[in-house]
Amino acid sequence: MLFGGPGAGKGTQARLLSEELGIPHISSGELLRALGVHRELMSRGELVPDDVVTELVFTRLEQPDAAQGAILEGFPRTLTQAQALDRWLDEHGGAIRRALYLDVPADELVRRLVARGQESGRGDDRATVAARRLAVFEDRLPLVVQHYADRGLLQVVDGARPIEEVHRQILEAL
Ligand code: AMP
Repeated sequence: MLFGGPGAGKGTQARLLSEELGIPHISSGELLRALGVHRELMSRGELVPDDVVTELVFTRLEQPDAAQGAILEGFPRTLTQAQALDRWLDEHGGAIRRALYLDVPADELVRRLVARGQESGRGDDRATVAARRLAVFEDRLPLVVQHYADRGLLQVVDGARPIEEVHRQILEAL
């Protein structure tokens, strides 16, 4: 599992890791964008309701290609989601190998989000929305990080380093 702030490089690193390990990359944000649900909430940088996200991610995890494992990216984002994932894994005989936290300072996240918004046209990367996404992340994620720290699963990776170096750190952490 990979988490970190908006713009921390979760998607980039999850794709690299997926190639390296040969297991699918499951992004809650991409699942939501593909379905086109809760566009309005997402465009404001707010979180989508926990039950919607958990249902989507669990359905995806039940696909045969995820039977040998998967890289979860951007999920869980709340303690409720983390607890739901624990229950799901208990029921399905799964376990979390590592919770990798991509640590990037807030000012660098803002810089990256604004650059990505200009390049990709992703509406939720506009400066005002980016600030809101960052605030939501800073509000919710500490409890999730603590949840995995308490279980000895947390590994912090310096996400401000160049892409290849972050990738190497992640491989070492695994
Ligand atoms: P991302 O692609 O991970 O940056 O997610 C884009 C947007 O999708 C977020 O700003 C949220 O609105 C929504 N989203 C993605 N993952 C979650 C999640 N685990 N819980 C709630 N909302 C989510």
